[in-house]
Amino acid sequence: MVDRIRPQVAANDFARQWQDISADALDAVDRVGRSGWLILGKEVEAFERELASWWGMPHAVGVASGLDALEIGLRCAGIEPGAKVLTTPLTAFATTLAVLRAGAEPAWCDVEESGGLDLEQATAAIAADPTIKAILPVHLYGHPLDRAALQGLVAEHGVAVIEDCAQSAGATREGEPTGGVGIAAATSLYPTKNLGALGDGGVLLTTDAEVAARARRLRDYGQSDRYEHSEPGLNSRLDELQAAILRSALLPRLDRFLQRRAEIARRYEEELRDTPLRPIEASGGSSAHHLYPVEVVEGDPVAVAEALRREGVAVGRHYPFLCPDQEAAAGRGGVFGEFPVARRLAERELSLPIHPYMEDEEVEAVIEACREVVG
Ligand SMILES: *Cc1c(COP(=O)(O)O)cnc(C)c1O
Repeated sequence: MVDRIRPQVAANDFARQWQDISADALDAVDRVGRSGWLILGKEVEAFERELASWWGMPHAVGVASGLDALEIGLRCAGIEPGAKVLTTPLTAFATTLAVLRAGAEPAWCDVEESGGLDLEQATAAIAADPTIKAILPVHLYGHPLDRAALQGLVAEHGVAVIEDCAQSAGATREGEPTGGVGIAAATSLYPTKNLGALGDGGVLLTTDAEVAARARRLRDYGQSDRYEHSEPGLNSRLDELQAAILRSALLPRLDRFLQRRAEIARRYEEELRDTPLRPIEASGGSSAHHLYPVEVVEGDPVAVAEALRREGVAVGRHYPFLCPDQEAAAGRGGVFGEFPVARRLAERELSLPIHPYMEDEEVEAVIEACREVVG
């Protein structure tokens, strides 16, 4: 047996979260149970309204996952089989999978140093390939992409934009939240996300009332009226139970969660800047700090990760394999360049624990472990 000198610092702590939210969550469950209404009722409607208002977007549509919100967003943008959608190689595979599920072909170009899509390279790719009909950028790690550059690209090339905001709830650029540039945006309510349910869920956000109406049909078998189906849709509904819990227990805490994430990020930044564990920072604006990514500048990143884990720190990797290299995407789509930056980050990025229930001593223990490991 090895004596643990340091505490274990987890990547997330849902048991601690439950201690905090249980009274509000149980009230919400009771409310739904007593209402006798379990699918697409008042709770989903109210959650959609409240989230839209929190996010600063006119419409929110609750669905079963972030993946589905992306697929529905792509379909609302008129993406059809054969069309190409330009996206980032460095993201959760769900981003690329949504393109495949919509029947389209993914295309990828490199990322910038913040980890997000390099919009200059994206512009060049769109200019070179007229079969690219849409762009699916990701505000990776919670770092907001350059809003003006994204708007410029849309204005110049007329491609549709669907933003992947699964990690960016709470991020702003030029004072604006992410998700408002294009036809639709998607976020995820997966438990680890900034606003996480007690299970799966997702939301499509849009400024366009017609897109919201179509998304509401698509999540419900493409049903336009009772028993009338205008197009083949999905079964992708957010449950009344999850919506009620989100409304009563999680959305009211979201600002505090984000504040805590920002405090932890600030502390890491102070201590790790100019060390061999270099923080990967946003290119501008205010990050939502969904993750705390660092680049292992010197030495073997796998060995560093193992050493940190031995010190009790649950480090993650986002993401060790690029989407175009995944077997599920083999032979699909188009590749622009060799992604040198994305490949370097995939190899050298580590994610330090950052979650709203982390204690100060845990943050200091992580910093101490980092010092120990990279000296
Ligand atoms: C989590 C995530 C998704 C998928 O969301 P799910 O709710 O798990 O389907 C998509 N894109 C990114 C960037 C994510 O982090």
